[in-house]
Amino acid sequence: MKKTALILMLALSACGGGGGSETTARGGLVAEKIADIPGPGGCGVSNAYRVTEAAGVRLSQAATINLKTANRLNSWVANHAVPIIGNRGGGLVELKVAAHYACRTRNHRRGARLSEHAKGNAIDISAFVLADGSRISVTEWRGRNGRVLKRLHASACGPFGTVLGPNADRHHQDHFHFDTADHRGGAYCR
Ligand SMILES: [Zn+2]
Repeated sequence: MKKTALILMLALSACGGGGGSETTARGGLVAEKIADIPGPGGCGVSNAYRVTEAAGVRLSQAATINLKTANRLNSWVANHAVPIIGNRGGGLVELKVAAHYACRTRNHRRGARLSEHAKGNAIDISAFVLADGSRISVTEWRGRNGRVLKRLHASACGPFGTVLGPNADRHHQDHFHFDTADHRGGAYCR
């Protein structure tokens, strides 16, 4: 317990007490460094950022995630999401963010393990908004946008350690879950 408190203090002092208004724009990532988020329990985010744009594509709401997840998101949008969507609807302009940091268990189930969302490692995306105002929603997985959604899902496998979509379970019918957890057997994608 004492050790945790000490590490937290060091982390806070290392970034000047946190909170800052520094904006990091690296290869299209627009993110503000924020103070580390302490617990409770195993929850919390170190190296926390508030991300508003990835690879020139805005997020529908600012996402609180750690730097590793922010960088993975940025490179996935640049290298996969933007080219896969291509000129459809004039191109990708916004990601609908359904969830980011939240101190909760997996799928909100009582007694379940902590979600990667509780560590700042995860982001959920429910739709891809195009320049003409139309959108590709994950709910269309079995419908007219199924093909492009399956390509987007597959392309995130590897850049992210865990990728879940409508084929995973009933909790992922309307969004993709991406996280940067490291699995010993390689990425887990369903
Ligand atoms: Zn999720």
